[in-house]
Order: sequence, then C-alpha cells, then structure tokens
Amino acid sequence: MAQAETAPWKLPAALVAALVVGGLLGWLVHGHIASGIALVAMAEVVLLLTRIRHQVQPIMAAPASASPLQHDRFMTRSRRIASSLRDLRNAASQLPDAVVLLDQDQHVRWFNHAAEDLLGLRRPKDRGVVLQQRLATSDLSDWLRDGTREPLNDVAAPGHANSQLNVSMLPFGRRQQLLLARDISHLNRLEQVRRDFVANVSHELRTPLTVIHGYLELIDPEDVPELAPVLGEMRAQSKRMGQIVEDLLALSRLETQHQIVDERVPMAPLLATVRKEAEALSQGRHKITLESTAEADLLGSPKDLHSALSNLVSNAVRYTPTGGSITIRWQRTPDGAVYSVIDTGFGIPATHLARLTERFYRISSSRSRDSGGTGLGLSIVKHVLNLHQAQLRIESAPGAGSTFTCHFGHARLLPPDSGDES
Ligand code: ADP
Repeated sequence: MAQAETAPWKLPAALVAALVVGGLLGWLVHGHIASGIALVAMAEVVLLLTRIRHQVQPIMAAPASASPLQHDRFMTRSRRIASSLRDLRNAASQLPDAVVLLDQDQHVRWFNHAAEDLLGLRRPKDRGVVLQQRLATSDLSDWLRDGTREPLNDVAAPGHANSQLNVSMLPFGRRQQLLLARDISHLNRLEQVRRDFVANVSHELRTPLTVIHGYLELIDPEDVPELAPVLGEMRAQSKRMGQIVEDLLALSRLETQHQIVDERVPMAPLLATVRKEAEALSQGRHKITLESTAEADLLGSPKDLHSALSNLVSNAVRYTPTGGSITIRWQRTPDGAVYSVIDTGFGIPATHLARLTERFYRISSSRSRDSGGTGLGLSIVKHVLNLHQAQLRIESAPGAGSTFTCHFGHARLLPPDSGDES
C-alpha cells in the first residue's frame, strides 16, 4: 500500500502540537509541565523516525515502479550481491598477505587477520585511526607520510619480531588506498642460504685450485713433450676455474655489503690503467681511444670501481672482432658524469638486454668461454654501481656494436685532485 507523503510544514506543526498536549498531560498527571513535554517529544521523535524508515525502505529495496515479479528479481539480485560481497570480504580476511583499506586521509577503514599479525593492528580500536600515526614508531612511518607509490622492500614487520615485509600501496575506488604487506622473511632466509652456500663453496675451492694451478705451473712442457698440449689446456682451465671462484667471492662480498667506505678515486690514473689493460688484452687487434673531458674524480671504493670499469672494457675487447674500435669516455652531463665504453663489436639482440646483468647469463656460452669470460662480469658491475648509487645503461644492436654507460650522480663527484695536498 502506498504511503501518504508528509507535507514539509506538517512535521514541525505536529511537534508543536505534541509539546502542548504533552505539557498539559504532564501538568495533569505529574503536576509539572516538563516531564510531559519530554515524554511526548520522545514519542514524537520515535514516530518520525519510524515514518522516515517506512518511506526510505521501499526506495532501498526496489524501484518505486517495480511490479511484484520485478521486485522479486531485484531482491534475489540484491541478496546475491550481498552474499558475493560477504564471500569477498571473508576471502580477503583469510589472505596470508596483510590488506588494509584506507580512506583518502589514511584513516583505517578495514583490515584483515594478516594485518593484525604483521602490522600489529587491533580491532575494533584501530578502525578509524590514521595509519601513519598508529605505526609512527615503525620503519613504515616515513614511507606512509611521504605517500610514495614505490613499494618498500625488506622493512621490519611492526607486529612481528624478526619478520621482513614487502609493502605496496595501490589506489583503490574513490581516492581510497589499499595497503598490501607480504611477509618475505622466508624468501630472505632462502636467499641468505644461497649466498652462504656460494660463498662457502667458493672459499673451499680456492685453496685446492691454487695448489693444482701451482703444480701445473711447475711442470716444464719440455720435460714431457708428449703431454705439452694437454698441459697447456689444463693450465688454461685451472686459471679459468680460479677466475670463476674469485668472481663468485667478489660477488658474494658485494651482495652482502650495504655500504662502502668512501675514498677519493682519482680518475685520470684509473682511466690510464683501464686503457693499458685493454691494450694488453687486445694485443694490437683493436683501435683503443680514451676521451676524458669530465675533470672530476669519483667518491667511492677504488678497488670496486676499478673492477667495474675495467670489466666493461675487457668485455668490449672480447666481443669486438679484430680491426674494430673501442672508445673509453669520461664526460660531464647535467645530472653528474658518465663513464661509457663504446665498441663496434658483435652487438646484442634487444631480447637479451634486460637479463645481461644476471649471474652466468650469456648470449653465447661458447663465445664467452672461448674469450675467457666467467659470465659474472656484468653482475659484478651492476652491484658495484648500486653501491655507488649509479646506474648502468646498455644500448646495443646486433652488428652495430654496444655502448655500456655508467651514470654517476653529483654526490659521487669531486673536483680533480690538484696534487697540492701532501
Ligand atoms: P662474460 O664473462 O660471459 O663476458 P658478462 O657478465 O661480462 O659475462 O657478460 C654477459 C654476456 O653479455 C656475455 O656473455 C656476452 O654475451 C654479453 N656482452 C657483454 N658485453 C658485451 C659487449 N661489449 N658486446 C657484446 N656482448 C657483450
């Protein structure tokens, strides 16, 4: 049955009439007006609320013009949507990753069980709190305050001692945000086991290899001419194994190192050394040019930077056929300075570029092996540059040569040492 609409003037008029009637009743029954007014006013408010509910309910439940059949369908659909929403919420609450729904001002609107465990949130008291304030003492605080979209890795879990999280923030709905936190402690432990294993094996192999290599060097091929070719191959292979072990140890050290002791790295002598090494490796097969215009030294680890810069030049020599040219360049840019090694060599197909800095990643294993490579050079370069907040860019195309560029920021540059200081 249709409800009669309440005219806007009728509600205040009814309230005034109720107050007058209530006052009279209160005076008659209790001897004073106030109690009667309060009693009838409350009854009137309840009546008003009931009337409003009756008017709103049909609008919420079904369209006003709905036929009984449409109304049934509408109700079924609503129930199905409500049940799906409940299922979704239940599923989200059981996720192993922490999920926190935040409004535009970072007030917590909802969170799942994992968020209680990993972030230390508690219900119901943490519903509505500002997340950044709630986690003010945790490592997440600055990241939440800055509102960065970049995920945060390896951050200590506020609710779980000895756990590390990977945390990301996703825009969601209407200016809402979804904070997702994943426990990566297990992955970190596995990664640590892998690192320790590689470091231990490399360390254990180092001594026996040095002994074998030493004895092989002692044997004079002229004393055993029939073994001369075999001896040469054995020496080359033991040297290669020794180089792999040294590179693995260097990589293990770089992976576990989070900071370097900064020292001045004078670039003029370093570039001259790198060039000399390239010429020794090339044996006159390439034209090698050095262009140094930056007039800046670097701030960092001299040993590691030498290793990275000479690795790039050694690659250029090894992957450029005889007659090709190699340019070593050190120049200023608006962002700092760049060290580039440009060759006219074989080049690299685009599909390989993104994976070149992975350990043991090679385009052609035989070419790498034949040229004395270990497959670890670019991985070492990447780690050294990371420690110096520098970036590696690789541009290359098959047959068109390659350019490997290391970008150093202003913070890593020093005016060249004039040599006046003693
Ligand atoms: P490797 O010891 O095999 O040279 P790196 O890590 O130094 O290992 O390089 C990885 C792979 O990248 C090499 O095997 C090679 O295929 C490719 N590469 C590196 N530098 C160059 C270059 N200048 N020109 C062509 N290919 C290169």
